[in-house]
Amino acid sequence: MSQVFNFSAGPAMMPKAVLEQAQQEFVNWQDQQTSVMEVSHRGKLFMQLVGESVADFRELYRIPANYQILFLQGGARGQFAAIPMNLIGEKGKALYLTGGHWSATAAKEARLFAEIDEINILEQSDESRVGKLDFSEIADQYDYVHYCPNETISGVEIFDLPNVGNAVLVADMSSNILSREIDVSKFGLIYAGAQKNLGPAGITIVIVREDLIGHARKETPSIWNYEVQSKSDSMINTPPTFAWYLCSLVFKHLLAQGGIQAMERRNREKAALLYDYLDQSKLYRNTVAKQNRSLMNVTFTTGDEGLNAKFVAEALENGLQALKGHKVLGGMRASIYNAMPIDGVQALIAFMQKFERENG
Ligand code: PMP
Repeated sequence: MSQVFNFSAGPAMMPKAVLEQAQQEFVNWQDQQTSVMEVSHRGKLFMQLVGESVADFRELYRIPANYQILFLQGGARGQFAAIPMNLIGEKGKALYLTGGHWSATAAKEARLFAEIDEINILEQSDESRVGKLDFSEIADQYDYVHYCPNETISGVEIFDLPNVGNAVLVADMSSNILSREIDVSKFGLIYAGAQKNLGPAGITIVIVREDLIGHARKETPSIWNYEVQSKSDSMINTPPTFAWYLCSLVFKHLLAQGGIQAMERRNREKAALLYDYLDQSKLYRNTVAKQNRSLMNVTFTTGDEGLNAKFVAEALENGLQALKGHKVLGGMRASIYNAMPIDGVQALIAFMQKFERENG
């Protein structure tokens, strides 16, 4: 087997250069003769890493000064609960736009804490399509409006911003963070688990506008309280230092590669190659409307679960890993996050062509 490509949806592949740097520094970080995971999170060198990682992340997304960047634990699911605990205020309710597994799960969790209204934005016919996203007339009644701009399981991405008037817009960007340019100032809060585009599992980034901090309901546990975490540099408890270190290397790597603009260009190129191939294929099909096709998670099926299983098994024999679709949907899914080189997509297409010739 010549080269292996990992299409896992998450935890997902990391940039090779980052893994190699971490390997080199593993037993001797910053000339300390210890690894980064063995030093105090409050020591000078680790605090320097923290400061640089926040500054690099701010630069990557051009995050305005009135936003805090928190590095928390508990995954995106932790935020499903933390968001209502911190953001539900005078209005006492929030609106969740749902159109897939993760947005629906976020709404379900939020219901433990507050009154939640839900609007299904997915128009399902023979294709999955997201309808018009104008909620400006109703959004005022809510403390915030939550949505998931990239549904990892179905591969449905929302490129237009929902119009929520002056209401606070909250986005779960777990599977498309840092994949393309966004205007952070349009959001009240953005959050993402690290394990797809930022680093390994175990750390969660929250970008939150400062005026939204400080209003948590009083029984909010300190680790979920944005004010407490913001005042303690996200260190009210011991942070996952090794995961944070790896994220900091990923940010530097992305900046050296040309930042988000360069990532977006590459991501659009990779996704277009794959979707163009799918569109002309007689064996495979993708069932997402063109304007909502995810740049990160490309789903496809032969329409026959037996043949899909054969595809996944033979792909693996050919060095193409983790192409099985999520169990709730079946079929196949190729996750092509920032770290996936274009060679990986080309190798996948070459295999798909061969499989189609043999099984079409
Ligand atoms: N939201 C989205 C969009 C996801 O893709 C995932 C994980 N696949 C989650 C939330 C849950 O993330 P975690 O496991 O970090 O809680």
